[in-house]
Amino acid sequence: MSKASPLVGILALQGDVREHEAALCDLGARSKEIRRPSDLEGIDALVLPGGESTTLSMLMLSSGLVQPMTELLKSNLPVLGTCAGMILLASDIEDGRPDQISFGLLDISVRRNGFGRQVSSFEEDLEFDGSDVPMRAIFIRAPLVTRKGEDVEVLAYGSFGGSSAQVPVALRQGNVMATAFHPELTHDGRVHGELLKMCVSVERSSTGSTR
Ligand code: GLN
Repeated sequence: MSKASPLVGILALQGDVREHEAALCDLGARSKEIRRPSDLEGIDALVLPGGESTTLSMLMLSSGLVQPMTELLKSNLPVLGTCAGMILLASDIEDGRPDQISFGLLDISVRRNGFGRQVSSFEEDLEFDGSDVPMRAIFIRAPLVTRKGEDVEVLAYGSFGGSSAQVPVALRQGNVMATAFHPELTHDGRVHGELLKMCVSVERSSTGSTR
């Protein structure tokens, strides 16, 4: 990629968009809200924010985004999915609705609301990617990763059910990254920073490329 400042598309069919825009802007990246297929033109990476994965699926279908997004993601576009966005990337959704969309790019099984309902939302300090600077993480009706494939790297573990059990909460497989928590809410640029690094390092195939 030759441009100094990557252009990151943010799926803007539900809320949680401005927070991602601010996080990317703080890191010197440009962003663009994605609501219809033509908005995908020229983006270097994509963010799938939180929300409700079932609703996001329906809205992606009705706005005609599923097919062009599938093509772009197949071309190796760097992508970050947070919370519901993680569910949209998972290869297996244990308790999804039968008509729920998944791009199937991250070899994990997830259980929606696996940490509990809204009242069980919580915050925790995590060790992220081997750093000794803790990362504050906010979990809101977060998906629980119940299986991960061997090609999937764990960037952070979190605690589960108030016990000492540790479960993966930030993962990467090639240029696909996902967090069960909301990195856009804590002013810690490291997760978005990893996405921007992928824009530089990832080889894009010509299939579905927007440029
Ligand atoms: N529980 C939501 C879902 O299943 C995700 C919640 C979130 O994105 N904060 O899609």
